[in-house]
Amino acid sequence: MKTEIVPDQPMVALTFDDGPSSVYTPAILDILNEHNSSGTFFVLGTEAEQHPEILQRMVNEGHEIGNHSYSHLNFTLLNDAELTYQVETPQVIVERITGKVPTILRPPYGFFNDEVIQKIPFPIVLWSVDTVDWQSRNADYIYNIIINNVKDGDFILMHDIYESTLEAVRRIVPELINQGYQLVTVSEMADNRGITLQPGNTYHNLHR
Ligand code: ZN
Repeated sequence: MKTEIVPDQPMVALTFDDGPSSVYTPAILDILNEHNSSGTFFVLGTEAEQHPEILQRMVNEGHEIGNHSYSHLNFTLLNDAELTYQVETPQVIVERITGKVPTILRPPYGFFNDEVIQKIPFPIVLWSVDTVDWQSRNADYIYNIIINNVKDGDFILMHDIYESTLEAVRRIVPELINQGYQLVTVSEMADNRGITLQPGNTYHNLHR
């Protein structure tokens, strides 16, 4: 059971890129569920097609799946056909597995330009807190970055492919809740703030 969202209370979106991982993603889902919380998973097509059962879990358990491209290429270096393939293939894979289509996209490395934005038919969701988890691989470091920077409306960037990130999530989820934050998906936050995420726009956060 998810906790019902209270619009006036602070909320943040934990976002996880580059998975799903057969090892770490299920454990992160367990932690979120245990705390009646939701996460947003920007999956790669290559990983999604290998782990259909994890995608189905995400949808069944009320989490959000976003598109993070098929194979993690830099969108600014692709021609039109390549870009279309990278953007459309994960849509097809996720829909085939879960019956739902992602409505938000995060470009690999956060790389984009005006041309890319105009060609992608989805809102582009970036982040306002970067845990740099891929670099530090250190749970304390990840935890401290979040605690020292978090505020209402943040999108927090992590990767559900590292053990250190899992360990940080294990500690950060109860602590954020303890501090009064609701852990919601990107789309839930937008809905609660009366914001319609628009194609052609980029969103780093939904601060009030
Ligand atoms: Zn990525």
